[in-house]
Amino acid sequence: MEKTTFDPKTIRKDFPILKREVNGKPLVYFDNAATSQTPQQVIDAIVDYYSNYNANIHRGVHALSQEATDRYEQARIKIQKHFNAAASHEIIFTSGTTHGINLVANGFSSIVKAGDELLVSAMEHHSNIVPWQMLCERTGAVLKVIPMNQDGELLLGEYRKLLSDRTKLVFCNHVSNALGTVNPIKTIIDEAHKVGAAVLIDGAQAAPHIKADVQALEVDFYTVSAHKMCGPTGVGMLYGKEEWLNILPPYQGGGEMIAEVTFEKTTYAELPHKFEAGTPNICGGIAFGAALDYMNAIGFDGIAAYEHELLIYATERLLTIEGLRIYGTSENKTSVISFNIEGIHPYDIGSILDKLGIAVRTGHHCAQPIMDFYKIPGTVRASFSFYNTKAEIDALVEGVKRAKAMLI
Ligand SMILES: *Cc1c(COP(=O)(O)O)cnc(C)c1O
Repeated sequence: MEKTTFDPKTIRKDFPILKREVNGKPLVYFDNAATSQTPQQVIDAIVDYYSNYNANIHRGVHALSQEATDRYEQARIKIQKHFNAAASHEIIFTSGTTHGINLVANGFSSIVKAGDELLVSAMEHHSNIVPWQMLCERTGAVLKVIPMNQDGELLLGEYRKLLSDRTKLVFCNHVSNALGTVNPIKTIIDEAHKVGAAVLIDGAQAAPHIKADVQALEVDFYTVSAHKMCGPTGVGMLYGKEEWLNILPPYQGGGEMIAEVTFEKTTYAELPHKFEAGTPNICGGIAFGAALDYMNAIGFDGIAAYEHELLIYATERLLTIEGLRIYGTSENKTSVISFNIEGIHPYDIGSILDKLGIAVRTGHHCAQPIMDFYKIPGTVRASFSFYNTKAEIDALVEGVKRAKAMLI
């Protein structure tokens, strides 16, 4: 059973970085949507790998290589179980979400034809826009946009109108990194399947908060980055339905992904190795598994409930500041607050908060079309994790008030 309440004080002890000071003040880390912090359990897994069984995998006859291979493949099974994939060979290790999306977009080059249509949501991260634009340039396919409303919610009626037998692919994030909106992805997937289109869901921002079940969703592709869910950078996973992974050609050529190589012809390895050319981030993959163990031991129900409490508290407190506007006001949100204060540039607020030891993100958050939609240069984004506290939110609110007094 997952725990439903937990003690952030105890949890914080797992994160060595939370003890440090920045500019002489205790660190308040509210840039979790960009990357999360790393608990000691994951740091230990990294140290253990390099201290005790560092070796290349899938090749050596020697003991270390066997041990590293076993641990890496165990991590793949942890990821499979976590996202409830039907088979472990449907889990492809990647360097992160961006890599996963490029792998699929590249694979569809030989499937998509001129005049085919691809649908993208209006609230995507650049990494779920640009690879598809490149695919359209290569193939002559057309990219169409599913619009959103002022609250930052997709217009499902408009989406249904865009779908037709020309639609080959639909891609959308599960949760928007800039607005926090949780999108109705089950409906999006079901509607796309009615016209025979495949769906890729960018789960980068959902994975730290919501445990997705890829079989229940019936999603074709789902991709995440480990570094947003307590794991290290440079590793992630792409889930693909076996049927699709068999159809798609390999992304990169090299060692590890072949069955047989001659100068006349090369045959490819079985799944998942067909998509895993070269020596992977072995330590990263194993540490990703350790991060999933860590989060599952705390429990996603408890994490979601506590983060929702932080979201509601911060929203109420921030809205007491006159002239402050929040972008992304859907009922269905994760713990991300994007805001501006009338007449002040977001960067200036971010700089003053940094002097106070408070880390937020400012700018377009790799989602420039959203900023264009609201006709703003960017926002200040505070994103909360389960190791944050209400006292830290109080510090943020005081900091924003101070910035406002200094800048107006
Ligand atoms: C962070 C993020 C990405 C990109 O992830 P990388 O780890 O940089 O590849 C893509 N989409 C969303 C929604 C994100 O939050």
